[in-house]
Amino acid sequence: MMFTRRTLLASGACSVAMPALAQVVATLGSGDEQISILSDGGFEMPLSTLARAVPVADISAQAGPSNPFRTPLNITCLRRGKDVILFDCGAGANFLPGSGRLQESLRTAGIEPEAVTHVLFTHLHPDHFWGALDEFDSPLFPNARWLAAAREIDFWTSAKVYDHLPADRHAFAAGAQRIAKNLGDRLERAEAGREWLPGIAAVETAGHTPGHVSFVLSVGGTSVMVLGDALTHPQISFAHPDWQPASDQDAELAAATRRRLLDELGRTGMQVIGYHLPGATGRVERQGTAYRFVGT
Ligand SMILES: [Zn+2]
Repeated sequence: MMFTRRTLLASGACSVAMPALAQVVATLGSGDEQISILSDGGFEMPLSTLARAVPVADISAQAGPSNPFRTPLNITCLRRGKDVILFDCGAGANFLPGSGRLQESLRTAGIEPEAVTHVLFTHLHPDHFWGALDEFDSPLFPNARWLAAAREIDFWTSAKVYDHLPADRHAFAAGAQRIAKNLGDRLERAEAGREWLPGIAAVETAGHTPGHVSFVLSVGGTSVMVLGDALTHPQISFAHPDWQPASDQDAELAAATRRRLLDELGRTGMQVIGYHLPGATGRVERQGTAYRFVGT
């Protein structure tokens, strides 16, 4: 999701105190191959951010009356053999109140930062990337390999990135550049459409950001897609995939990506994990001319 602290504070969206929500949200698989969904907390957003140019009353009819609404941050952690693989790493201490709980959730799950072997990024927005550093600006996971799509890294680290972003999102680029610089050579470039690790394929789901990817992997014999922010809201993204959330950088491409994903996921019934979907895990079901998210 894309809103600066200032935007949200100005909107009054952060006036409600957030409970600390360090926790393990869900688990899939077992034994030598299992996924734990770790909470990084959450934050609040105005309903109006869910669809440009749609009256808030219409948004509210789908998304519920709560304005602002709360969005959770769900980090997928795959443990298989000696590998501990995180998909995104949360918002860290400097984004929005209520987020930055990953370290506590890792402790709850019994995972030491030193044990994390890989961090694979869906994209480099603050709520997915800014948790990469500790309070001394050192990589939070000292033994990890860090991988992101080359196109995503190129976009955010370009000197021209500011030309492609509205002024209220320049902080996103400054933050991404600071973190990429601190990770240095540790941040590896990878390509969409390939396996980034054995059995873990990155599929292109651009639109939310220019180099956004989702991941398909198997756990306990079941295929799972780690969506990232390709589908962000449990009602709006499914019932109205063509609505244009303010957080999507290329609104039309993001909508086309949603349509393509929903069609595929509705046909295959593949398990999905959503970074911002409450409960994180579920499946996509066709409903009339659109779809719905069925949590599991
Ligand atoms: Zn996000």
